[in-house]
This record gives sequence, structure tokens and C-alpha cells, in this order.
Amino acid sequence: MFNLRKDILANRVILVTGAGDGIGKEAAVSFAEHGAQVILLGRTIKKLEKVYDQICQIGAQEPAIVQLDLETLDEATSEQLKETIQDNYGKLDVLLHNAAILGTRVPLENYDSKEWASVIQTNLTSVFVLTKALLPLLKKSVDGRIIFTNSSVGKTPRAYWGAYSVSKFALTGFAKILSEELENTAKVVVTSVNPGATRTSMRRSAYPGEDPRKIKNVKTLMPLYLYLAGPDSKHEHGKEFSGNQQTWDWANRIKGPR
Ligand code: NDP
Repeated sequence: MFNLRKDILANRVILVTGAGDGIGKEAAVSFAEHGAQVILLGRTIKKLEKVYDQICQIGAQEPAIVQLDLETLDEATSEQLKETIQDNYGKLDVLLHNAAILGTRVPLENYDSKEWASVIQTNLTSVFVLTKALLPLLKKSVDGRIIFTNSSVGKTPRAYWGAYSVSKFALTGFAKILSEELENTAKVVVTSVNPGATRTSMRRSAYPGEDPRKIKNVKTLMPLYLYLAGPDSKHEHGKEFSGNQQTWDWANRIKGPR
């Protein structure tokens, strides 16, 4: 679809959460296709194995699979993950926080508190726990990146979107705090992406009556993700990006020879 520099992510070790489906899956394949050593983190092993096969089939570096449920992620498990990455690669260059769940869309007064806890743990607390554990490895990279995945309902409150909207609001704050804390202390560039309406299972659950053909394909987001994961985004620290805009702009920044 785009003619991008094939080696733009060479020698980079990239962990993608929620790599088994949707945007995370496409990003993982795209990162591998552009030279990265990818670590596929997700909860459904069959989906991760399919992504693994897809990456091997295109002749990219063999990815690693980490089956992990972010809803039950604790510090001990995150520390183990850090040790494994340290032992195998010695560093982490990019952490893409992508996994999330939608939860139900009901008024707050009817929101189930168990579901509330589940959405907040998956979309927010696991992001904190993982970031905390993996930051030392990201600081070992000469050009580290943390990419958060936000949403329009993390910017403008929307009735009935409950814990999902609240978790994304909190992520906006989390990314801002982290970017300020890392401003002068590390070479880790923190950015956020709001993908905008994108044709995935989550979008289908959120808008079942919508014609999916009118919604953009995940592939159109990839120039932006490649740009943010790659060496050309050094100066983007603390910024937020919309997946609805400027696809060709990102593609032009990292395009390869014709
Ligand atoms: P999908 O539902 O298609 O994919 C989400 C991925 O996250 C799946 O692979 C899922 O695993 C994984 N995941 C969910 N819960 C857990 C968990 N507890 N542990 C591990 N992995 C988990 O969503 P999208 O690709 O659409 O969304 C990706 C990101 O983009 C999310 O952060 C979402 O909020 C954001 N976003 C998406 C938009 C869109 O229109 N699609 C719009 C705005 C923001 P499994 O497959 O096993 O369920």
C-alpha cells in the first residue's frame, strides 16, 4: 500500500500489547516487515500464533510470543517479563500500549462494578505496571519509545461510555505526566495515538449498525505507527497524534526509494 523504508526499524526490539487482533496485530506485522524484532503480547494464544505465522511467512525476524492476560497482570509477572526481555535482547526500544477492552455502554448508575474494575485494570492499571517494569529496559535503548493508544472519548467525555472513557481520560494524564518526568532524564520519547474510527472487532462492537466499508482499514494507520516507532520521531516527545489525519504525510516522512 505504501512504499516505506524497509529497514526503518532494523535492530529495534518492539513489544506490542494486544498483538493478536485489530490495530495491534497490524502494527506487529508491519513493525516486523520493517526490520524489528517483535514481541507479541496478548491473551489468546491461537491469535498470537496466527500473527507469528504471518510474520514468519513474510520472511521477517521470528517474533516472540508472550501470552499474558493484562487483566490479572501484577508486578511479579511484569518483573519476570522484564528479566526475559533483558536476557534475550538486553534492551527494549519500543513499547506500544495498544490492548484495551470496551466494556458495556450504559449509564454510570447502571455500570456493573466488576466490569468497571476489569476495564480500568486492563486499559489503565496494566499500562502503569508494565511501564514501570519495562522503563529500565527502555532507558537502555539509544532511541526508546513509549506509544500510548488513546481515543476521542479520552478527550471529550461521552455519556454511556463509562469505564472505557474514564480509562482513556486517565491515559491522557498518564502519558502527560510520564513525558514530563522523562523530558530531561532519558532518551525515551513518549507519544500518544488516537487511531480514530478504524475497522476492527472493537469498532464493530461499539457501532454494530455501522457499514464497516465506510470505516478506514487498519493498514492506513501504519505509516504513523512506523514513524513513531522509528528513528525519525525523536523530536515528537509529549505529542499526541490522530490516525484520521495526514496518512500520506507520515508515509512521505519515511518513504523508501521508488
Ligand atoms: P480489538 O478489540 O480489535 O483488539 C484489541 C486487542 O487487545 C486484542 O488482541 C485483545 O485480545 C487484546 N486484549 C484485550 N484485553 C486484553 C487483556 N486483558 N490482555 C491481553 N490482551 C488483551 O481493538 P482495536 O484494535 O480496535 O483497538 C486497539 C486500541 O485502539 C485500543 O486501545 C482501543 O481503545 C484503541 N482505539 C480503537 C479505535 C477503533 O476504532 N478501532 C478507535 C479509538 C481507539 P483478544 O484478541 O484475545 O481479545
